[in-house]
Amino acid sequence: MYKIKNEVIESIIIAARNVYPDEFFSMLGGTEDKITELVIVPATFGENFSSYRLDLVPFDKNIIGTIHSHPSPNNNPSRADLESFAAKGKIHLIISHPYTLDTIRAYDTEGNRKQLKVI
Ligand SMILES: [Zn+2]
Repeated sequence: MYKIKNEVIESIIIAARNVYPDEFFSMLGGTEDKITELVIVPATFGENFSSYRLDLVPFDKNIIGTIHSHPSPNNNPSRADLESFAAKGKIHLIISHPYTLDTIRAYDTEGNRKQLKVI
């Protein structure tokens, strides 16, 4: 189970709605299994979120994973998602349209679903 601060969830929902129908992407900051902040990186919002520049990720932050949105009701990781998970931390969130607390899912590096507890 992963933990996530309520304000982080709220920020994710707002951001995902703002960029809809494009995809929102951000890194997750925190410690171990607790997500405490969004670490926004320069990214190209679009159908393929993988074009952000890893060299611009702030290195003083403790990056533990990623969050991205799907502009569809499908919040399962795609093949491309699974391929990118391993290189970008251990916690990966996907939020699907219409972007509510109920449409956020958490996965580990292999794409196994994990419980997410709001704190
Ligand atoms: Zn995806």
